[in-house]
Amino acid sequence: MPATALRCRVCETQYPLDPVGVCSKCFGPLDPVYDREEQRRVVSRERIEGGPRSIWRYADLLPVAPPAEQVLPPGWTPLVKAPRLAQALGIGELWLKLDTANPTHSFKDRVVAVACAKAQEHGATTLACSSTGNLGNAVAARAAAEGLEAAILVPADLEHEKLVASAVYGPKIFAIQGSYDDCSRLTVELSFELDWAFVNVQLRSYYAEGSKTLAFEIAEHLGWELPDVVVAPIASGSMFTKVAQGFGELLERGLVEGERPRLIGAQAEGCSPVADAWASGGKVKPVRPNTIARSLAIGSPADGALAAATASSIHVTPEDEIVDNIALLAETTGVFGETAPAVTLGALRSAVRAGEIGEGDRVVLLVTGDGLKTPGLVADRLDPVVVEPDADLILDRVGGVA
Ligand SMILES: *Cc1c(COP(=O)(O)O)cnc(C)c1O
Ligand SMILES: [Zn+2]
Repeated sequence: MPATALRCRVCETQYPLDPVGVCSKCFGPLDPVYDREEQRRVVSRERIEGGPRSIWRYADLLPVAPPAEQVLPPGWTPLVKAPRLAQALGIGELWLKLDTANPTHSFKDRVVAVACAKAQEHGATTLACSSTGNLGNAVAARAAAEGLEAAILVPADLEHEKLVASAVYGPKIFAIQGSYDDCSRLTVELSFELDWAFVNVQLRSYYAEGSKTLAFEIAEHLGWELPDVVVAPIASGSMFTKVAQGFGELLERGLVEGERPRLIGAQAEGCSPVADAWASGGKVKPVRPNTIARSLAIGSPADGALAAATASSIHVTPEDEIVDNIALLAETTGVFGETAPAVTLGALRSAVRAGEIGEGDRVVLLVTGDGLKTPGLVADRLDPVVVEPDADLILDRVGGVA
């Protein structure tokens, strides 16, 4: 395995590859360090192409050894062309990365699988997290597949369907009467008291790296070419920054050639601390989220500053455009995304209006979560013609001849 240590992003102190969430000297975040020479020597397109059809085909570029038995492996999700949406927006070439095709229908299955592999290496018996919904689904399902206990802390007022989509796997759910940021603070406190493996606390360095596989798959699916632009949502900023890092690693390891794609970030109007910091050039100031995009409602984003520094631009999608974008995506591509991809589509539209995307650009839009988990938002689009079972009545309604 080519990872050799964890290193503090701020003071560069190195640590062994253990489940430690932050630097004990400065509380900075820790990133895995890889033996680049070893990776350049070992990793090749052919070796990856011969691997499993999951994130584990990129194990040489991840900080954990792949599980001996790969149950319910995430990743290797479709990258599909969206010509009708491209035409509607005036983009030359648009692709959708359908991470809805993961086991629990969001990209969170990627990050949880990597964190869980590390947790199991250290003998953990309970997998845990704070969650805006999708992470809880992924943790609960992963625990069920691996035979672990699961505990998840979520805001009590989360979309009901998303809570049910966790409950079905049998985890202990703590519905916290507060915000996601309260849940997150509680998991940090509890991580000192309990031997639970919190995937986004002491396993965060491993967890975060799982998102790089989105970049790896996009490049591989494009025939080992890079797109020009990737549009992606930002909540904590972890996925956004790791996707950028993933493209960088492909270039550095000689697996692709060309320019690093421009990364355009997306936040919702009701929770846009990273977009605001990007626009002002200042610090990320925590906010109290008030958005229907619950999966993106993190007011105090752990990787916000790095996301702002990574982004070529970040666009804010108005709250009243989010549901319309769910519909636009569905009607022009056949893909039912949740609010996060709707916010992302809003950012893409805004970037096109701002002239940041040209006719010749190859653009990838990340569809990170599934609309079937939150159908309530578009429920009023259901307006069926109710008729007796008689073909003539239907012909009447459509104006056909009886
Ligand atoms: C968690 C989540 C995100 C954002 O992830 P971060 O790494 O916290 O920025 C985006 N989309 C969906 C659907 C999510 O569940
Ligand atoms: Zn440090």
